[in-house]
Amino acid sequence: MPNSIETINNIFKAQQKHALELRKSTYKQRLALLKRFETVFNQSREKLYAAAKADYGKTEAEVDLTEIFAVRSELHHIKSNLKRWMRPKKVLPTLSTFGTSSEIMFEPKGVCLVISPWNYPYNLSFGPMLTAIAAGNTVMLKPSEMTPNMSTAIREIIEECFEPHQVAVFEGDYTVSEHLTSLPLDHIFFTGSPAVGKIIMTAAAKHLTSVTLELGGKSPTIVDETANLKKAARNTMWGKFTNNGQTCIAPDYLFVHESVKDEFVSLLNENIQKLYGDKDKIQANPDYCRIVNQRHFDRVNGLLDNAVEKGASLINGGLTDASQNFIAPTVLDNVSSDSKILNEEIFGPLLPVMTYTNLDEVIAYINAKPKPLALYIYSNHNFNINKVLTETSSGDAVINHNMLQFLHPNLPFGGVNNSGIGKAHADSGFKAFSHERSVLRDRFSTTHMFYPPYTPKVKKMIKQTIKLLT
Ligand code: NAD
Repeated sequence: MPNSIETINNIFKAQQKHALELRKSTYKQRLALLKRFETVFNQSREKLYAAAKADYGKTEAEVDLTEIFAVRSELHHIKSNLKRWMRPKKVLPTLSTFGTSSEIMFEPKGVCLVISPWNYPYNLSFGPMLTAIAAGNTVMLKPSEMTPNMSTAIREIIEECFEPHQVAVFEGDYTVSEHLTSLPLDHIFFTGSPAVGKIIMTAAAKHLTSVTLELGGKSPTIVDETANLKKAARNTMWGKFTNNGQTCIAPDYLFVHESVKDEFVSLLNENIQKLYGDKDKIQANPDYCRIVNQRHFDRVNGLLDNAVEKGASLINGGLTDASQNFIAPTVLDNVSSDSKILNEEIFGPLLPVMTYTNLDEVIAYINAKPKPLALYIYSNHNFNINKVLTETSSGDAVINHNMLQFLHPNLPFGGVNNSGIGKAHADSGFKAFSHERSVLRDRFSTTHMFYPPYTPKVKKMIKQTIKLLT
């Protein structure tokens, strides 16, 4: 589909018209759209694997686990709950609204734009799109230009399922997004970096379009002196190096209690070996994917060089090959606080390890930075866990594991301030794409007794009512 401004504008107008029709859509009609997608998606597995392999060497098992499973479980959850979510929610009257009845209706927002990043293109395009369809909206979808094969696969699947006035995919670079976000949309659901999130929110402000911003940031992992170190090392290495560290909720940096550091570091090394084999063979291991492109390779490699220049030492890894956008799983020690790696989201296979002796230092460090998307703590000491949970803020938090919060269908997913605005998944996702319309019906309310003229009797009644009700 060519993305000329004229084409985009025509599809937008067609979607605006269709969105009015969709306001009347029933549960069965929405379910039929979801099932149509399900059939084509399930038939497209080979295409999905091939595109992921071509874009950044992502292996089939990881596509299954982090993309296909996520889309299918989101769809399954929506199908099982949609009828309930769509039902208007009764609201009990209060004394001051005596004689009325009320409910909350979930009406579709209208034309919704979904902009997705390159790190999990299927999951982060189809997930919000399915929720938007379930909530009765039309969707304009803009996948990332960084994974062109996966974006084309997304477009082909959508073209097989839907007409452009229902769902349309627009491939292309940021100029396409710029035009899309200039339209008077009813909602924008953006997943990407905080920097671009600000551009999106600025564009949305022009039309007061509502936004959900699923952003990134530096998610800390804390390992205290009571933690099960084996489990902490195993989970952290999986969370960090899956998708080559290109995961918004990957552990970004690590704080380990000084008393257990040496043991923990040797467990980290042991687990890298378990996951990806001997150091000199990792590059040939098909389970270890690549940095998405040269621009991001240069960025991540730059973080590594800068850290080493400023005195960091390598605990593991460090090997790079620009010709393949390859960076080995790398763990760093003695990282200087002014290194770029400690001040920018890493989004690659580098893990700086810092030590602490007093948990207050860690909490102060986290609180001095923008609020992260996720926070992980490995501990068997409830006091420490509760202290971290109550004295810090993050989009989500996980105790004694990482990344699983994204997969729990009943947990709202999203950041806070710099790491995001609004939530996805579960009924929070449905609500993000719905307008919660309050509807009050008068039956026998007595409010007219308080209308002017304000005679002494009315004034007395007003005062008595305030006293009685408040
Ligand atoms: P990005 O912000 O560079 O790009 C995201 C999307 O925005 C792409 O489709 C891109 O074409 C578009 N875009 C880029 N510049 C734009 C502009 N000026 N105007 C309008 N649109 C523009 O992000 P990315 O590099 O694709 O992804 C990595 C970032 O996404 C990381 O910060 C990561 O933490 C975050 N992320 C967050 C989540 C989440 O669920 N919270 C999930 C995945 C990734």
